[in-house]
Amino acid sequence: ADAVKKFNYEPRLIRGVERTVVACIGDERSHHTLESLVVFPQVESVTPIQKKYKLVSREYQAHDSVLDVAGRKIGGGTFHVVAGPCSVESASQTIETAKAVKSYGATLFRGGAFKPRTSPYDFQGLGREGLELLQQARAATGLPIVTEVLSPQDVEMVAACADVLQIGARNAQNVPLLAAAAASGKVILLKRGVSGLVDEWLLAAEYICLHGNTKVILCERGIRTFEHACRNTLDLSAVAVAKQETHLPVFVDPSHAAGRADMVIPLARAAVAVGADGLLVEVHPDPATALSDGGQQLTPKQFGQLMAEIRPLVEVMGRQMGEA
Ligand code: PEP
Ligand code: MN
Repeated sequence: ADAVKKFNYEPRLIRGVERTVVACIGDERSHHTLESLVVFPQVESVTPIQKKYKLVSREYQAHDSVLDVAGRKIGGGTFHVVAGPCSVESASQTIETAKAVKSYGATLFRGGAFKPRTSPYDFQGLGREGLELLQQARAATGLPIVTEVLSPQDVEMVAACADVLQIGARNAQNVPLLAAAAASGKVILLKRGVSGLVDEWLLAAEYICLHGNTKVILCERGIRTFEHACRNTLDLSAVAVAKQETHLPVFVDPSHAAGRADMVIPLARAAVAVGADGLLVEVHPDPATALSDGGQQLTPKQFGQLMAEIRPLVEVMGRQMGEA
């Protein structure tokens, strides 16, 4: 109790038969952390009760955040679908896909110019040239652009071409990148880390908010588990928890979760039912020739099927399909 007082917390003792609980009243955000007290032999464990995130929480803001992306309202009862290829590969591939996904009802276009590939020998993306092709796709269709930024020094260049900056699973806890992306003032689509806890995901969003940008879309994209029938395991529980804990829009990426095209539509249906605010789906005119993630990309026709299947579910869930 003395150590607790020294850290400016108010101790309240609860004496039991086998152990004594010391409830410590105070705010960890302004005081020394108590977790270090586990070093004392008489302390069995230190359990924080207060949640670490604040700005993203429903306690801070009860109502859903509604983000504006080029006039589209994200969150708060709408359901938007972001679609496009994993990688931007050529002008025709990009523009053809953008036109096709728009015709089926996608309201934002995605495409990677900077690709975070696991192997250095795989296609790394067209970089700056890719960004130019994305701008052409925007000019041709009017769809706002979602694209990934890999490093803080690229933020300015990518933000000049993108409506939404994507932070990928591999960078989900890259604090300098979160800060630089936040500073751009753009809407940020934040993927959950490959092995990220929900808390870690929400705290990454908290970093962005703390850097003055509360325009964050959370995106669950499947996590690494023991199960390998699909590339990852889509964690629908995390979507439900994130919806309950935070006021931010929560999207689901069934493509990276599944890793295989034949599982994308069923996972997309489940995402609607669990209460997601939108989807991020990979679509390629000819998945067999794709330079990345070929196995999971839908053809435009399959994407049309996905949209047809989710539309009635979105309605049953009391939501409105996002409008352009
Ligand atoms: C992507 O969206 O193409 C991508 C690389 O996603 P993730 O970061 O979720 O792997
Ligand atoms: Mn991909």
